[in-house]
Amino acid sequence: MALRPPVPWAPLVIAEDRCKGCELCIAACPKSVLALNRGRVNALGYHPVELTDAPGCTSCAFCARVCPDTVFTVWAAPRPSREEQTR
Ligand code: SF4
Ligand code: SF4
Repeated sequence: MALRPPVPWAPLVIAEDRCKGCELCIAACPKSVLALNRGRVNALGYHPVELTDAPGCTSCAFCARVCPDTVFTVWAAPRPSREEQTR
């Protein structure tokens, strides 16, 4: 099954029930837009990571590269349509 970007579009989909709260992604994020959500406990018993500032995320995917548990799916920003490009 093909993956489709979330609607409305968002830079990350976070499978929070797979997160072990190791914070590797938080250290790797150059924009400092990830944090553990201390108000939630996931199915594994950890505080899962969350995106704290979606507009600040550049879809660089460093977080996905370092995560040992494949928690992230990263989506590039949508391209403008041809009509929008010619305006
Ligand atoms: S894609 Fe890049 S900017 Fe966005 S949360 Fe991950 S590491 Fe940070
Ligand atoms: S690297 Fe993966 S497992 Fe570790 S805190 Fe980030 S999302 Fe959770």
